[in-house]
Amino acid sequence: MFMRIKFKLEILSYVKLLILGFIMSLSVQITGASAKEKQMVDLIVHGRYVVTMTDDNRVIENGAVAVRDGVIVAVDAAQVIEEAYQAKKTVSGEDRILLPGLINGHTHTAMVLFRGMADDLALMTWLTEYIFPMEGQFVDPEFIEAGMRLACLEMIRGGTTTFVDMYFYGDRGADEVEACGLRAIMGAPSIDFPSPGFTGWEDSFSAAVAFVKNRKSPSGRVIPAFAPHAPYTVSAEHLAEVSRMAHELNAPITTHLSEDRAELVQIKERYDTTPIQHVKNMGLMNHKLIAAHVVHPTDEEIKILADYKVGVIHNPTSNLKTAAGIAPVPKMLAQGVLMGLGTDGAASNNDLDMWEEIRLAALIHKGVQYDATVMPAETVLRMATSGGAKAIGLDHLVGDIAVGKRADLIQVDLSGPHMTPLYDVISHLVYAASSSDVVTTIVDGHILMEEGHFMTLDAKEVRKKANEIAARITEALAAK
Ligand SMILES: [Zn+2]
Repeated sequence: MFMRIKFKLEILSYVKLLILGFIMSLSVQITGASAKEKQMVDLIVHGRYVVTMTDDNRVIENGAVAVRDGVIVAVDAAQVIEEAYQAKKTVSGEDRILLPGLINGHTHTAMVLFRGMADDLALMTWLTEYIFPMEGQFVDPEFIEAGMRLACLEMIRGGTTTFVDMYFYGDRGADEVEACGLRAIMGAPSIDFPSPGFTGWEDSFSAAVAFVKNRKSPSGRVIPAFAPHAPYTVSAEHLAEVSRMAHELNAPITTHLSEDRAELVQIKERYDTTPIQHVKNMGLMNHKLIAAHVVHPTDEEIKILADYKVGVIHNPTSNLKTAAGIAPVPKMLAQGVLMGLGTDGAASNNDLDMWEEIRLAALIHKGVQYDATVMPAETVLRMATSGGAKAIGLDHLVGDIAVGKRADLIQVDLSGPHMTPLYDVISHLVYAASSSDVVTTIVDGHILMEEGHFMTLDAKEVRKKANEIAARITEALAAK
């Protein structure tokens, strides 16, 4: 009997233990599940409106983006993101539009130090009497460092996160891009004439080959490229040489193309053809070609540009200022040409403000075609974001807010009187916003500007150095 009771008691305590064990394991499972629900990310950025610029034109009201290791891991309603992710840092989106960083498809960054040096002159007078002599005298590594820093500061301020550059001392410039945190395709210029640091084609091209071959980018944000200046400053055989090397090294090419009417005359005289046909004949379109301007394409050439997937960069301010003309952008878009937007250098603009290019691109074509329906706002914004990314061949990385893309994001403030009221968020971005409305700039998940404060550059120091160099240029101009 005693034995039976003892046995019963043992069974009972065993059952109790089992129940306790079950409850404990259940609670461990429950705790584990709630920990799993909130995944750790580096950054969550909110937006009153998240304008994704994806192909389906998705705009999320009260949305957010989660970022880990520089990559977008989730895009959704803010509530969904908050429930699923825990971030080391969160950026508020109240009264702000969150959109992809802008892409400047064509510029000569360090030329910001020539900003406003000489205006209102015919292109050839401006080049031969001002730009070329001043470049010969002043462009050296110190100029590049100061100019790049100023340009990067301006671009970060205005929400440009990627740019395609064409300027001298590429290694020095690339160092500055790495340091300031932006993303760039850096075109090493080659030209048949003497240029800063070079006597002519041979040394400028061999330096370009060395740059494309050897330039390493620890961050992956700098992509080296070939930049033959233009079909009228680089001979046919040299253009063919660039094509061969670009093919061998699998590098993109960027060039000026069909910009000015004088170029059409010169190419006709030399090769009895048109600039676009000519660069195609030289093999430049057999690789990723980013062509700036393209103001004067024929219908046949527009078809060529579309067929060869050439990225065409529209630079409306520069084309107006140098009186190059107005590119037939609506026609090129209708034919399926990959179109982006650019500022060109600040010597012919005179700034690196992509919002001005967006606005101009949306307006001038309506005016010249007497048709208010051409270049709708969404089309133009696309040229500065996802369309621009396709044009420069980086759409696998940037251009829209989508899972798997690099986190290149900007926030635009909606609190200004010029942004009030708001009926259509895309309309505001194109027709009302300006660079001073940008409050946050993020590249690769790193915040480069927060609430107007720069994280990677000392704005005061950058301006001081730029003004020092400008003082020397002013002195040289006075002595002319
Ligand atoms: Zn240019």
